[in-house]
Parts: sequence; C-alpha cells; structure tokens
Amino acid sequence: MKCRPSPVVSLLAGSLVSFSALAATPSDETAALAQIRDAAMHSDYAYERLTDLTDLIGPRLSGSAGAAAAVTQVADAMRKLGVKVTLQPVKVPHWVRGAETAELVGYTGKPAGISQKIVLAALGGSGATPAAGITAEVLVVHSFDELKAHAAEVKGKIVLFDVPFDQDMANRGQAGTAYGQAVAYRVGGPRMAAEMGAAAALVRAVGGAAYRIPHAGSSGLEEGKRIPAGAVTIEDALLMTRLVKRGPVTMHLTLTPKNLPDADSFNVIADLPGTDKPDEVVVISGHLDSWDLATGANDDGTGITSAMGVLAILKKLDMKPRRTIRVIAWMNEENGQRGARAYLASQNGVTEKHVGAYEDDNGSGRAFGIKASVGTAAVKYFAPLKAALYPIGAGGFVREDALGTGDLSGLEEAGVPSFEPLMDSSDYFNYHHTPADTLDKVNPENLRRHVAVMGATAWFLANTDAPIGRANVPK
Ligand SMILES: [Zn+2]
Repeated sequence: MKCRPSPVVSLLAGSLVSFSALAATPSDETAALAQIRDAAMHSDYAYERLTDLTDLIGPRLSGSAGAAAAVTQVADAMRKLGVKVTLQPVKVPHWVRGAETAELVGYTGKPAGISQKIVLAALGGSGATPAAGITAEVLVVHSFDELKAHAAEVKGKIVLFDVPFDQDMANRGQAGTAYGQAVAYRVGGPRMAAEMGAAAALVRAVGGAAYRIPHAGSSGLEEGKRIPAGAVTIEDALLMTRLVKRGPVTMHLTLTPKNLPDADSFNVIADLPGTDKPDEVVVISGHLDSWDLATGANDDGTGITSAMGVLAILKKLDMKPRRTIRVIAWMNEENGQRGARAYLASQNGVTEKHVGAYEDDNGSGRAFGIKASVGTAAVKYFAPLKAALYPIGAGGFVREDALGTGDLSGLEEAGVPSFEPLMDSSDYFNYHHTPADTLDKVNPENLRRHVAVMGATAWFLANTDAPIGRANVPK
C-alpha cells in the first residue's frame, strides 16, 4: 500500500537524505515530529540492523549462544551510536530442543507395512520421552470441556487438542483475538492433560498458513509437572481427527528436549539522556530473544531494531529530548518474561518517573497509527502526534484501558501508559514462531513506518507538557 504523500516526503523522495541538512534544534513540536517522521521514512538503519541480527546470528532462544551473541551485537551497535549502554543481568530459563519425531503406527484400515509420519515441534518447557520414544493411543479433543468429558479415558493416552486458529478473523483485523483463543490450548492444554494423567500432549499449531509447518511456543508446563508436549501441523491434526472417526489411532512419539538450569543473560538498555528532566523516562522497546526454529525476524527482530532505529535518527539529527528516551531490548519475552520482571524489580516498585512505555511486538505489517492505554481525558492531547503521522498514513489513534503488551504489562499494571503500533497483523501468525519467520518476510517500507511511528511517539512523550500521564490511567 502506498502512503499518502507529504510535502516534505515528496521533496526528499528519490534522493538520499542528508541528516546534517535536517539537523537543527526544532523550534516547535510540529517541526520536530515532522523531522523524525521524515528521517525515519528515509533511513534503512533498522533494516540493516535486522539483517545483521537475522543473517549473522539467527535464532535467539533464552540461554542459547544466539541469545548471548544478540546481546553483544545489539549493545555494540548502540554504543557505536554514541550512547551509554547498560547490560542488566537476568536469569533465564534454558530449554534445549532435542529429537522430535512422531508416526502413526496403528489405525483402522492401515495397510501392512504403512505408517504415517506426523510433523511436529516440541513446545518450550516440554518434558521428554525415553530416547526410544513411547507408543500410546491418541485421544483427540476440540476443547477443554471435551477433555473433561473424557476424563476417564485420558490416563496413559497422547492427548491432541485439535483447535483451529481463526484465520478469517485474523484477515479482518482481529489477529490478536484469534491468537488468544487458540493459544489458550497451547499454554493450558498440556498442563490440564498432565494433571489428568496423559502420557503426552499435542496441540494443533497456533497460526495460519497451512504449509505443514509447526509453530513453536511455550507449553505452560512447570518443573515437576512436565510431560512430553508438542505442536503438530494443522494438516497432521486434521489427519488424526479424520482417522479417529474410523477407530483407535496409535502414535509412536519421541521428544527429547532438555530443561537445563537457569542461564545468565541480560536486558540491553541504552539511554538518550533528557536535558531538563533526565530522571523522567520514556521506554521504547522490543524483545531480543526469539523462538529457536527460525531467525525471529518479525518476532521480534523488527521491534528491537525499530527502537534502535529511533535512537539512530535522534542521534543523527542531534535532537535532545527533555526526558530520557530509553531503548530496552528485553530478554526472555517468549518463555518467561524474566527480563521484564528484572527491570521492574530494578525500579524497586517505584515507576512514577516512567511517562510512557512503547513495545513493538506484533510483527512488521503496515502500521496505521498508535494504540495507547492512556486515560480518556488524555486522548485530545495527542492531536499533534496524530497530525504528524497522518501524512504517512499512520494518523490512527486507538485508546484502550490496558494493552497487556508482553514485556510492558508489569509497568502498565503499575500505572505507566503503554503504547504499541496500531497495525495490520493479518499474516503475522503465518510466520510467528515458525521456521519461516525470516528476513524476507519483512517489508522494508513497513519497517521504516514502524520506526517513524515509534520515534514520533517517543519524542512526543519525552517533550510534551500535556498531562497525559499516569494520573489519567483508569485502575
Ligand atoms: Zn514476540
């Protein structure tokens, strides 16, 4: 989709922007926001950093060598921008994928010598089968209630939750709702099955794009209560649902992941200090860890490199915010949110100095504006920000009581307004947590717009005198 032209963007289109030509101390809010917007729409800094992150490192699951390399790479890149970088220690879960195979070895109508391969991926925190695997009957259910209704049959079985992700809902702007409905079975299903005595638990992959690829994610299982748990592809879940109509289905399942002791890791934090209110903070962020099947380009490479892109633009424009703009590359969003908890703990329960916090963690689809958990009375004060983003087709503003964004939820519960892009996530769950979340899925134009929206919002929050803060947050 093409953005609406702005006079400034049109003027600069087709030529490389000279940042020095734009560098000036903005005399007013409108000019400053326009400068940031236009610089972002002409900068590939974020895409270059995303390329480094995904091509040179790849997967970054907490505790892995990839996660450690990402901490170093991102910290070094931000130091190069001339800002102070702090590594905040975080103890993270360390789960390592092992062998993962499955085949259907018994079902009504099976010809002699035939077995059916099932494509699956172990879920984070999954327990392990013996190295030789287990063989058990598959119990297919389509809801928690159906599992409860079959409670007497669960013991010793491999339970499969065949619950679809509603792609039609996602296509119509409700991807988050669709995900929430289906992911409930990934984070709650294995635990319920374990409590009822199941030998293992499987869920239908939570996402769209039926290309027979599994979607990883957390199992919701805890130490001492782990059973083998995996996600099977949509196609294989459908196959088993069809076969059980003919009679009992038996699976041979081998999953040998390891749950290792917690590992040492870090949040990467970089501050662009405020001029007259340096102790007041605006957080802009994404998460640095990713699932292990792919390179986490969209989840959440684009979020963290957008925040880095904002920092790069403000440094190049030599713009100094009144309040401190703090980039945080969160560690361990995916399977523990330990980074978010460590940051919150470091504030000693005092978050009053946080004016707002922004996280970009819904992929890199087209941004239309901003979502914000500010009070209703505060909405009108965002008019200058909306006006600045309108020329790039991102002037939308949606207020909600709470965004519940992964790493920011603790800050939000403490009264800090949260922000995230208002955006298209209709195809995000095709790639999210799959082997296909790679750089080629990121549209550079979309990424520039994400940087523009985040950058303008950060600048607005860091400089405004409008009363948009915590007093307006409904409790
Ligand atoms: Zn994410």
